[in-house]
Amino acid sequence: MAAMPALDVTEGPRCRGWQQEAALRMLDNNLHPDVAERPQELVVYGGIGKAARNRACLEAIRRELMALAGDETLLVQSGKPVAVFETHAAAPRVLIANSNLVPRWATWEHFRELDAAGLAMYGQMTAGSWIYIGTQGILQGTYETFAAIARARFGGSLRRRLVVTAGLGGMGGAQPLAVTMNEGCVLCVEVDLQRIERRIRERYLDERAGSLDDALARLERARCEGRALSIGLLGNAAEVLPELARRGAEVDVVTDQTSAHDPLNGYIPAGMSPERAAALRGADPDRYLERVGQSVLAHVDAIRTLGRRGAEAFDYGNALRGVARDHGDADAFAYPGFVPAYIRPLFCEGKGPFRWVALSGDPADIAATDRAILDLFGDQQHIRRWIELASERVRFQGLPARICWLGYGERHRAGLRFNELVASGEVKAPIVIGRDHLDAGSVASPQRETEAMRDGSDAVADWPILNALVNTATGASWVSFHHGGGVGMGLSLHAGQVCVADGTEAAAERIRRTLLADPGMGIVRHADAGYEAALDAARRLGVRVPMAR
Ligand code: NAD
Repeated sequence: MAAMPALDVTEGPRCRGWQQEAALRMLDNNLHPDVAERPQELVVYGGIGKAARNRACLEAIRRELMALAGDETLLVQSGKPVAVFETHAAAPRVLIANSNLVPRWATWEHFRELDAAGLAMYGQMTAGSWIYIGTQGILQGTYETFAAIARARFGGSLRRRLVVTAGLGGMGGAQPLAVTMNEGCVLCVEVDLQRIERRIRERYLDERAGSLDDALARLERARCEGRALSIGLLGNAAEVLPELARRGAEVDVVTDQTSAHDPLNGYIPAGMSPERAAALRGADPDRYLERVGQSVLAHVDAIRTLGRRGAEAFDYGNALRGVARDHGDADAFAYPGFVPAYIRPLFCEGKGPFRWVALSGDPADIAATDRAILDLFGDQQHIRRWIELASERVRFQGLPARICWLGYGERHRAGLRFNELVASGEVKAPIVIGRDHLDAGSVASPQRETEAMRDGSDAVADWPILNALVNTATGASWVSFHHGGGVGMGLSLHAGQVCVADGTEAAAERIRRTLLADPGMGIVRHADAGYEAALDAARRLGVRVPMAR
């Protein structure tokens, strides 16, 4: 097996099978310093999204995975291993439930009490389900979102266009590269200097400006020359965006990716450094939240104002509008969320953020999978362009990985091909295949993935539960069910699955079944809500929907 210097797991499999070994490597990968935002606190991304509840739980999960037999299943409850049961060879090796609370108790206040008592963990989406792959994991979705805006508003490219956004964290850090991949210019406001520097180091962000004037001058030059450019500006979105609105700056697209879904831990109020914010948060959380509220009111008002003046304004799924509404802004939802605006047509065909990871640690294995994807789907121009751009411009964080949005009928073919690559030795170790929880049929989230559903079924959460159940029945390698995720407590329920292509016949069967049923849920969910595109996809692709009209 190839060496894995980046992760120091050079000694080869430590578990009793590759299904378990894959879970162990992905858990370690989530917490690798090149991958996680704050590994010392076990925080992977997205505010306080963690991979394990605490150090003792982390070590216990690792121990249990190493001991786990091929017909046993480990149960993880909010980042703590709580049971091992005999199941059977084709069952998931790990079942995970994170941050789930009975609806009336599903508030940040109650969650924080439990968290402080050591009884809970915030799992975000892929943090607690061990399939985060660094900023690349969200890069293509962000790239596709900006590409959709370019097509709808600007003739297919963001060339000579200015995007303004904030937040350069684990996911938000994808924004600058996603805009420049679409040939545009982007100003990214971020309060934490280390985050700006990290994104420059990782080549997601081009440069940093010393002041707003400096940033605007450089961006204007690039815009006139038709040159793509991303600039990070140390500052607070709640100050910089209102200033842009006051100046009447010419902005073409405006959005935000601060961690507003968790106002206490993820949003820094105006006028404060991250250090001062931390002090106030600890000393007087209520006062802190009040200041967040005032800042978000100004922030949302600026986005809305820029939108009214002609910019494409949209919410990037971080619950910013909800915070403003909770503080009295009745018009906070005046601009749309990104799913109904750009992504839902993809969900109707079961398309979503399919991703995979080379457990060998060897980038050549991802190059082999890239070739396989081009061989299978290279006739689709957008897939070809994405894979070519990604292989050229994405620097891996931790284990080499790739994301590529694929739909129903495509994902299982990719998975089976990867399994063949493992079986034939064309790649040096098994490939882990997973996805974000933000997918076609795996989420109920009325302010994001299921905002403004055609039949009004935004808050119906049976769908993600069925998704987790069917992925368990089809034999994914590990299955997870979480609450909160990217929008916060009380606002979403979502499921994840990961399959391991270890080159065996048994893996091929599990992959085929899971990678049909899982994206199939996307088609079914949207067909049930009456979307014509989903009903058409079901007919065309042979997905059985018993009461489809
Ligand atoms: P993160 O916590 O790693 O990063 C958030 C960043 O925002 C931090 O760097 C922080 O310093 C900065 N920040 C906080 N307040 C600020 C302010 N007032 N002004 C400027 N900067 C500020 O989170 P992340 O993983 O990058 O995710 C960001 C948000 O986007 C989350 O709420 C997440 O749920 C949401 N999100 C992203 C996507 C996507 O497709 N990219 C999808 C859904 C949701």
